[in-house]
Amino acid sequence: MAGRGVAMPLLVMKFGGTSVANLERIANAAQKIRKEVERGYDVIVIVSAMSGKTNELVGWVEDTSKLYDAREYDAVVASGENITAGLMALRLQEMGVPARSWQGWQVPINTTSAHGSARFVSIPRDNLDAKFGEGFKVAVVAGFQGISHEGRITTLGRGGSDTTAVAFAAAFGAERCDIYTDVDGVYTTDPRVSDKARKLHRIAFEEMLELASLGAKVLQTRSVELAMRYKVRLRVLSSFEETDANSGTLVCDEEEIMESKVVSGIAFSREEAKITLFTIEDCPGVASAIFGALAAAGVNVDMIVQNISEKDYDEAHPGAVTDMTFSCPINQVERAKKAMEDAMDKGLVRYDELIIDTDVAKVSVVGIGMRSHAGVAARMFSALATEGVNIKVISTSEIKISVLIDRKYMELAVQALHDAFELEKV
Ligand code: ADP
Ligand code: ASP
Ligand code: MG
Repeated sequence: MAGRGVAMPLLVMKFGGTSVANLERIANAAQKIRKEVERGYDVIVIVSAMSGKTNELVGWVEDTSKLYDAREYDAVVASGENITAGLMALRLQEMGVPARSWQGWQVPINTTSAHGSARFVSIPRDNLDAKFGEGFKVAVVAGFQGISHEGRITTLGRGGSDTTAVAFAAAFGAERCDIYTDVDGVYTTDPRVSDKARKLHRIAFEEMLELASLGAKVLQTRSVELAMRYKVRLRVLSSFEETDANSGTLVCDEEEIMESKVVSGIAFSREEAKITLFTIEDCPGVASAIFGALAAAGVNVDMIVQNISEKDYDEAHPGAVTDMTFSCPINQVERAKKAMEDAMDKGLVRYDELIIDTDVAKVSVVGIGMRSHAGVAARMFSALATEGVNIKVISTSEIKISVLIDRKYMELAVQALHDAFELEKV
């Protein structure tokens, strides 16, 4: 069978939940797709479920079965995208654009069998290429889903359609991967939290990766990882506005960015919890026992602080004690607590008290400029101090500084940091 015309450039266009929330919005997205077809592109369209649909499906699963079978969770939750894929193909056909819908298994989008957080294994091109070869101009693919080698439907984790889009762009050598959403680009911080947030014209892959993994939900973290690895030209833009080749934010290599600021953006996450183990022994092997038990229980530990002990460990004078604090996702708190209690029962870990604080949030400043600038931490802490915000835990990497604070101060902290790093001047 004929393949896709070699001369035909290809685009990937992804539409998120709010962009396909009802039939009118699907029609609006279809107009954008038709424009690209008229410009001479073959288009792979990745669609999310209509906004709210995935949450509803997750709710139905949880209401039916508390300890649900993850395979059936995926079977139910993947279905939201199937509806939008079919509707989008129909709308395009109504507009005279030859389009066909594809569920993950039909492509096939081969994934691991880690249900609920599957990863791509391969996306063979043959089936889609053959359809393009028959004269179809658009393949509408259901995002967020795939098929395992056991032949079961899988999903990629919340926000996964972004990653589907980037994976298709990489597999098909797309000229660009355009992520259409309800904001017109990547901002210095979530525009819902600060009205001073500014749209960034460009952002480096590494910065976007940090922002996404630290809580900015505009792109799924894995989509940025894939784009960085496969050098996909990734753009975030609005599905509600007129757009052209310069619209939105380009996520690109740092070499493509001229005016690099010290701090490019601020991310935050409300879904954090802090756990402190008081009075643990201060001797070799204790941290290994604590974090080994947490890892075995599947707890994703993020920040860690160990207090300085009153006296240094010394083999001749054992008995020094300290406290250990760590953070983890709020929905893993019970698992973490149980892991610690079990480790205590088995004599692997000893502590006097375990305190859980679920009223915390993580706020992070991110920027590649930090590599070559001193004083970023000082500026950050001073801005928080001026607002009377107490810092509970700090962690840093080459291009980010994160602090854990009381959740009630989260918005205030984001705004204070936005001012302190003059991000409204971007
Ligand atoms: P979609 O349904 O299209 O996938 P999402 O809700 O997943 O959309 O992502 C878009 C949202 O991400 C925006 O509405 C915005 O509130 C949020 N967001 C968080 N941080 C940022 C940021 N730095 N820049 C832009 N949007 C952000
Ligand atoms: N519909 C899925 C979700 O809500 C995937 C996506 O939209 O990216 O998480
Ligand atoms: Mg999203």
